Amino acid sequence: MVIGVPKEIKTLENRVGLTPAHCADLVKLGHKLLVETKAGEGSGFLDEEYQNAGVSICQAEDVYSGADLVVKVKEPLEKEYSLIKKGQTIFTYFHFASSRQLTEAMIKSGAVCISYETVEKSDRSLPLLVPMSEVAGRMAVQKGANYLEKHNQGRGILLGGVPGVKPANVVIIGAGIVGTNAAKMAAGLGANVTIMDINVARLRYLEDIMPANVYTLYSSQSNVNEAVKTADLIIGAILVPGAKAPILISRDMLKTMKPGTVLVDVAVDQGGCIETCKPTTHENPTYVVDGIVHYCVANMPGAVPFTSTLALTNVTYPYVCQIASKGWQKACRENEELKKGLNVVNGQIVYKKISEAFELPY
Ligand code: NAD
Repeated sequence: MVIGVPKEIKTLENRVGLTPAHCADLVKLGHKLLVETKAGEGSGFLDEEYQNAGVSICQAEDVYSGADLVVKVKEPLEKEYSLIKKGQTIFTYFHFASSRQLTEAMIKSGAVCISYETVEKSDRSLPLLVPMSEVAGRMAVQKGANYLEKHNQGRGILLGGVPGVKPANVVIIGAGIVGTNAAKMAAGLGANVTIMDINVARLRYLEDIMPANVYTLYSSQSNVNEAVKTADLIIGAILVPGAKAPILISRDMLKTMKPGTVLVDVAVDQGGCIETCKPTTHENPTYVVDGIVHYCVANMPGAVPFTSTLALTNVTYPYVCQIASKGWQKACRENEELKKGLNVVNGQIVYKKISEAFELPY
């Protein structure tokens, strides 16, 4: 099969759909690879490395016109719509439900759109979203530590303290992938960590595996109210599938916190669990409300494209292999997880939630 990897054109998106190492493996399996010039540059992979892997470097138009399967990271943007061919398979994050324009364009294109975010395992986990949550959870602590520094308007406290000086208090609300990764990082730095969730089984599990400086706490409103008063860094990491995150930290509660406390609302992409959170960008990541520093970047993994590309392609690659060797139809027939990724096929929406979002035929 001919597999194409275009350069991402979304602002500040530096990840790439396949690494040179994965391309080399696909070439060995007998596939032909077309990679757009400079596609991997933002993640630290040069054209030369792709060429050494047996890839042909070309322009975007040639990638789309020559490829049976296009492997990307972000949803196609308007400029790319006309490049997509009828019957071509596109494997990427689409997030269709957030864009009618994209949905209609892909219906019109007649392409086969397989979305990373809806590939689903039998236990209902979403394997192609997990690595980005891992990155965001780990980054949340790194960012929080940075913005706690005085010149960044933070409290001027070191997360781990030093001998003779208490460490900082880190409160994490949501003990899923993001929260657990944040807790590991904060605990590793020596902070005093409280991780909260409404899922007691999850808290029980974390109590068993986390180091002694991580405490678990049920996420009732009254417990959140108390925990934020003594926190130095608060990380919002809630997800309620298919719904907006509930607001657990109201504007009034900011007045009960210590000035210079840092809030990192990782859940901002789902509306956030902090009333005063609004999405920010890597260029302008923070703002201050009532003396409390807010960091609410909606695409945190974009800041570390090297790690994010490797983490993402580690999990997408096995599916790319299946699509490439069997074709999308057989691959989806034989793999229920991948089948769940089918969103739009040959001009037809095949994923119910997308048709419901726009009242389009299913
Ligand atoms: P997850 O499903 O693994 O975990 C979410 C957790 O929230 C679950 O354990 C759930 O029980 C818990 N929860 C639900 N309601 C709660 C409440 N009222 N109080 C406390 N906990 C509650 O999800 P995840 O992968 O960890 O993702 C968390 C959030 O981070 C999502 O909104 C996701 O979209 C977002 N995210 C953002 C970025 C970014 O760049 N900003 C990157 C990755 C993920």
